[in-house]
Amino acid sequence: MPAHLLDGKRIAAEMRRQAAAETARLAASGVVASLAAVLVGEDPASRVYVTSKTAAAREAGIAERTLRFGEDLSEDALLRTIEELNRDEGVDAILVQLPLPRQIRARRVLEAVDPAKDVDGFHPLNVGRLVQGIAAPAPCTPAGIMDMLRREGIALQGLRAVVLGRSDIVGKPMATLLLQAHCTVTVAHSKTRDLPAVCREADLLVAAIGRPAFVTGDFVKEGAIVVDVGINRVGRLEDVERLFPGDAARRAAFERNGSTLVGDCDPVTVPLRASRFTPVPGGVGPLTIARLLLNTIELAERRRGTA
Ligand code: NAP
Repeated sequence: MPAHLLDGKRIAAEMRRQAAAETARLAASGVVASLAAVLVGEDPASRVYVTSKTAAAREAGIAERTLRFGEDLSEDALLRTIEELNRDEGVDAILVQLPLPRQIRARRVLEAVDPAKDVDGFHPLNVGRLVQGIAAPAPCTPAGIMDMLRREGIALQGLRAVVLGRSDIVGKPMATLLLQAHCTVTVAHSKTRDLPAVCREADLLVAAIGRPAFVTGDFVKEGAIVVDVGINRVGRLEDVERLFPGDAARRAAFERNGSTLVGDCDPVTVPLRASRFTPVPGGVGPLTIARLLLNTIELAERRRGTA
C-alpha cells in the first residue's frame, strides 16, 4: 500500500500562523521579537535560505535584519559583529548562516553567540542543556521534525528509531530529541556496518546524510515512518529521469528551473514500503523555517522572563 505523505508544508503553515498569533500577543504588551541573520559570502543556497527565513520572520511579525558580508571577511571582524549583536538590547535571536568561508572557524563563531540569543541552539551550553533535558533552543531542523510528529499525533514512546547521519546540526540533536521522546535510538553513519539491515530495524527512520536517493526501499521496514531531511540538487536530465521515472510534473519543473531537488531517500521505492513519509521538497525544509520563528519568539520571551 502506498505511503501517506507527512505534509511538512501544511504543518509548517500552521506553525507560522501560531508564530504570528504569538507575536501579536507579545506586541499587545509592547514587545517586538527580533531576529538578526548574519550571512557571509556568496553561496547561492545560503542566500536563498537566509532570504526565506527573514521573509517568513517578517510575515510572522518578527522584526528582522540581515547583516551581509563579503567572502573575504576575517574571523576577527565576524567575532566583533557577533559581540555587537550580543550587546544589542534590540536583538533577541542571532542566526549565523552556515557554511562560513574557509578562513573562519565556525566553531569559534558559534561559541561567541550569547547562548540566550542562540536561535539555532548550536552553542555548546545549549547543546549540553538539550542533552540534559533543560529548556533551551533546539536546532531548528530536528526540533521542526519533532513538531511535525507531535502535530500528526504520532505516538513515539517505545518506537525503534534509526537516525542516519550524525552531524551536530541534524543527526545528533535529532537522536537526543527522539531519546527524550522515549524512542529506542540508533545513530548510523558512514562507518556503520550493514546499513540497510540497521535501518530496517526502524519503526521511525530519519535520513540526514546528503546523498541523493541513497536510502532505497530495501532500507525500510514495511510500515515504517520515514523522514527525509536530505536536500540534494539534481542538475542532469538523465538523473531526473532515473530518479523520477514517468513523473511529468518533475520533468516540467526541471525544464523550468534547470534543476530539481531530491532527498536522501529514493522517491519511488521508499514510499512503497513506508506507512508515512516526508516529500522533498515540501517536507522538512518548511518545518525548519517555521521552527526558527517559534525559537525566536521563545528567546524573546525568555530574555524578558515571561516564557
Ligand atoms: P553533514 O554534516 O554532511 O553530515 C552527514 C552525515 O551523514 C555524517 O554523519 C556522515 O557520516 C553521514 N553519511 C554521509 N554519507 C554516508 C553514507 N554513505 N552512509 C552512511 N552515512 C553517511 O550533513 P548535514 O548537515 O547533517 O545534512 C544532511 C542533509 O540534510 C543534507 O542533504 C542537507 O542539505 C540536509 N539538510 C536539510 C535541512 C532542512 O531544513 N531540510 C537542514 C539541514 C540539512 P560520518 O559522520 O561518518 O562522516
